[in-house]
Amino acid sequence: MMAVLLQQLTQGVTSLPGVGPAGARRLAALGAATVGELLEHFPRAYEDRRRITPLAALVEGQPAVVRGAIAAQHWFGPRARHLRVTLTEVGAARTGRAADPARPRAPSAALLCFGRRYLARSLAVGTVVTVAAAFHRRGAEWEAAGFELLPAGDRANAGRIIPIYPLSEGIRPAMLRRAMLAACEGLAGVATPWDGYCRRHALPPVAEAVRTLHFPACTGAIERARTAVAYAELLQLQLALRRRRPPRRPERRARGALPARIAARLQFALTRGQDQALREIGNGLRAALPCARLLQGDVGCGKTLVALLAAAWVVEAREQVAFIVPTELLARQHLSSACRILAPAGIEVALLTGAGAARGGQSVARGELLAGLRRGEVDVLFGTHALLQDEVVFARLGLVVVDEQHRFGVLQRRHLLQREARADLLLMTATPIPRSLAMTVYGDLERTVIRELPPGRLPVRTHLVRRANIGKVYHRVRAELAAGGQVYVVAPRIGAPAQPAVGAPAPVPDADDADDAAAADNAESLFAALHDEVYPEFPSGLIHGAMNELDKHAAMEAFRCGALSILVATTVVEVGVDVANATGIVVFGAERFGLATLHQLRGRVGRGARQGYAYLVYGEPLSEAGAKRLRAMKESSDGFEIAERDLGQRGPGQLLGLRQAGLPELRVAELPRDLPLALRARAQIAGAAPAAGPAPCA
Ligand code: ADP
Ligand code: MG
Repeated sequence: MMAVLLQQLTQGVTSLPGVGPAGARRLAALGAATVGELLEHFPRAYEDRRRITPLAALVEGQPAVVRGAIAAQHWFGPRARHLRVTLTEVGAARTGRAADPARPRAPSAALLCFGRRYLARSLAVGTVVTVAAAFHRRGAEWEAAGFELLPAGDRANAGRIIPIYPLSEGIRPAMLRRAMLAACEGLAGVATPWDGYCRRHALPPVAEAVRTLHFPACTGAIERARTAVAYAELLQLQLALRRRRPPRRPERRARGALPARIAARLQFALTRGQDQALREIGNGLRAALPCARLLQGDVGCGKTLVALLAAAWVVEAREQVAFIVPTELLARQHLSSACRILAPAGIEVALLTGAGAARGGQSVARGELLAGLRRGEVDVLFGTHALLQDEVVFARLGLVVVDEQHRFGVLQRRHLLQREARADLLLMTATPIPRSLAMTVYGDLERTVIRELPPGRLPVRTHLVRRANIGKVYHRVRAELAAGGQVYVVAPRIGAPAQPAVGAPAPVPDADDADDAAAADNAESLFAALHDEVYPEFPSGLIHGAMNELDKHAAMEAFRCGALSILVATTVVEVGVDVANATGIVVFGAERFGLATLHQLRGRVGRGARQGYAYLVYGEPLSEAGAKRLRAMKESSDGFEIAERDLGQRGPGQLLGLRQAGLPELRVAELPRDLPLALRARAQIAGAAPAAGPAPCA
């Protein structure tokens, strides 16, 4: 972890009073080697320890600071290892009233120490202690097992609003707070480049805001401090994005003759949307400044073809293309499409995944492929994130295509761009992301939208079916299969969580049996049931993520060429898979999938001229959120509309892949909550002329 805002505080944490080598090791586990890094470890919550709560005023389960005298010690448990002490209100203990059974008992509370024998001395009878704990009512008495003994004069842990940090192994919160308070003392007079920006928005300077976030003087100060730190982070992010602006390059001379020739040979005409998209992308590719572009279009609108033609555009300019997809299955599918569409035009296509390498249709040794790539013999390389490895070196990389962008984090893309700053970037997704949001994490980003599907497509008919009515689904599917259609059957899991006894017969999914319903949630037993019992007369296959890549590919190809009528699958088929003759999809446990996944799954069918059907099979009881998602699927087949609902239900942070990507630079700022702030930061940085550094402080 690198300090982002307080980089100048480079002293090691051992410079802080009370932090020795052992403490430093523990802090290093937090990623805090320097004082600056430590200070950027922000609290997740606060506890108000300003006031002492009288024992009579304790509230169940609420953190409180109490002060009392130890009235009794009692050892208990096996070998009397545990200690229970009774605490009474200070005044009461002094007068000895607590010990007098004739008088009404003064309020008291008990502290339990499990194994912490060393506490016995600090908790000797008669000692007055201050303790922070959450007490629980136990019969007539208050009791707390976890408690913090507050030594007199410990300014970091008592008498103020104290920070609660995300828990981490081996670090005592009290020690962390003391180190932090000492670090905060060093913040006086520390200036950052963002202070002027903060002042302009009536926000405190960064160092002061950081201090407030750790040790706020009052709860009212926290929000402004948070805003100031978030703003500084977002300004810093925008600056970094701006600095990463790619260098100019000579204009590409290609004019799109090659893609035009390829398009003319297709069996179908490009849709207007595809044509327009290709033109926009071509204009970008021609320009002297590399650009990043988001190509959005609903599932099945034909983005792959557009990307392949864009690749041809770049190949015409004698540059190479990296085509990155989230799954091996999809990489192989794209390679086959490219072999059909690009190779006849003389374009060299190849594949690299974790499991293997291929040039054209032939598998080759990985080393051979990499050498060919470096020599510039390969024009378009398809692959998974295996393409991001350092040894994958292109001779003249001109375009990076990322299919199903939402499946990738932001970091990976950074990684790529750092290596290949001159390459253009084409991100493809069926999940619309608000442009304003995307730009705050991607920097400049052009956007192209394909709004229509190829002609003759019929919207998929969606049926929501209770698990108990699965028989009806099987019946309809049989008719579909008999008419020559093909059907996906999707299960949420691969195998049963606990395997039944070896040799036990595969359970048949059946209406009224809960055990069988559970069995239908896993692909393996579902496959066995469909294959042996339900549809023995139709060829069926199984595909899931735990299979090796070649087996997966073989199963997929068998389904694609029609050798299999039924493909039982997990969500490995969720994105991108394209089999035009597939007319039906049955999704088991549909209530458990997110909206985006359901929409993607449904998008596997209805890719040809025949009517497609989706059966979303749900178990009961159905949660409210699950019901809402299923309803949304039933009511809409428009991916943009569904994505909008998804945005409402999940928040765009997740859609962007921010969470997966981790975005460590943003510790306080949170998207989309801080989107207005992010936009302001963006405008500020764009307005500050020199890209070299932030404007000097006002
Ligand atoms: P997605 O946008 O979801 O990635 P694909 O690129 O997988 O969609 O395309 C879906 C299907 O539509 C493919 O089978 C493709 O061959 C076909 N297709 C693409 N463009 C056209 C077109 N202009 N006319 C007819 N079919 C098309
Ligand atoms: Mg696709």
